[in-house]
Amino acid sequence: MSKRLASTPPVASSDTHLEQVLRLILEGSANTRPDLVRVTGLSRKIVIQRVDQLIAMSLVREGPTVASTGGRPPGRLDFVADAGSVLAVSLGATGLTAAITDLSGHVLATRHRRLPLGARPDVALAAAEAVFTRLLEDRPTKARGPLRGIGVGVLGPVGPDGLTMDTTRDGGWAGFSVADWFSSKYNVPVWVDNEVNMMAAGEARERSTDGCRNMLYVKMGTGIGAGLISDGVLYRGASGVAGEIGHMTISNDRSLVCWCGNSGCLGTLASGRAITKFGIAAMRKGDSPFLEGMPPRQIRDEHIVAGALAGDEACAQIMARAGEALGLAVAGATNLINPALIVIGGRVGGKAGHLLTEPVRQSVDKRSFPLATESLQIESSQNANIAGVAGSADTVIRGLLSGEQLEAWQTAVDDPSMEPAAG
Ligand SMILES: [Zn+2]
Repeated sequence: MSKRLASTPPVASSDTHLEQVLRLILEGSANTRPDLVRVTGLSRKIVIQRVDQLIAMSLVREGPTVASTGGRPPGRLDFVADAGSVLAVSLGATGLTAAITDLSGHVLATRHRRLPLGARPDVALAAAEAVFTRLLEDRPTKARGPLRGIGVGVLGPVGPDGLTMDTTRDGGWAGFSVADWFSSKYNVPVWVDNEVNMMAAGEARERSTDGCRNMLYVKMGTGIGAGLISDGVLYRGASGVAGEIGHMTISNDRSLVCWCGNSGCLGTLASGRAITKFGIAAMRKGDSPFLEGMPPRQIRDEHIVAGALAGDEACAQIMARAGEALGLAVAGATNLINPALIVIGGRVGGKAGHLLTEPVRQSVDKRSFPLATESLQIESSQNANIAGVAGSADTVIRGLLSGEQLEAWQTAVDDPSMEPAAG
């Protein structure tokens, strides 16, 4: 395995045939040597060589060469999902979710841990490491393949250099290399991206419909952000900051002050932080029977969502205002980028369901160009709790099984001294 530690997927391999053959076997599009020759148009000799390499790398397994009474048919080639495992973590503002998966992205175990709001990198990453340790203990090597890579979703954008940007007032993340931090401990390649991009990738993987090729994924947690998939590819913008929907100006009310220094940002009306603030104000005014009697410090965004779903009028109004603000932002984005699918997810957005999708639908239908809204789907996330880690694992697996990393894997088989100290 390469000692090069990637923070972004590495460049394409010179041996695209190896990758092409593996991908066809993995996807189940061609699972015998004759089928591979037919589908790829490559010579029989090249296909046999590449299949032999993949078998030596333990990434492909062959069925028995003589007909047996059961099991796989002779000569059938299958991807070996347990040839390795992946650790993935999604770092939110108030907690982290971590998972261990096999090389097909199948989640073997997950764990969650709360984080103090505004945790600095050393605190957040040490918490992630502790959870990784538990996951590796839960799944000893005999119950999984060796660790092959790590995927990390962080709060806020990651630049083209792989360094995090400090987009929170809490500090400590500007110019920080999360990849270096993990690679120094685990000695495997590390992929790092904005948490919301990982969530969009996870949602697309889960749904695997055509609509996901042009998708706007809105994450509402403590803050609010968006991930944009355009023509099947994550859109990052010139410097990796695309998707900061939370700072779109939605209101000219100057009392709605955002931590970014502006006022009227979407995040001041539609975010976990905002609805908590409005919920506490409603409780203090005696407007909310649902929140009545709760100490203000204990009121959290999920209580406002639960209150609205239970029919509490004040909570419902707060969510309606959040939905209306989100609708304005999403309608503008729809006119600009013409998505086929809008998914509302995240810790708060996933729970809110129709409280957000309905006002967003109304706003989009009213304000966006009819041709852009006719077949537009607007839905809640199918699996908001693990979309982030599923996407992180998927990003790692795509990286490991393509390009430079796949070549490095093969080199490690030829020269075992290159093998990383896998956990
Ligand atoms: Zn702002």
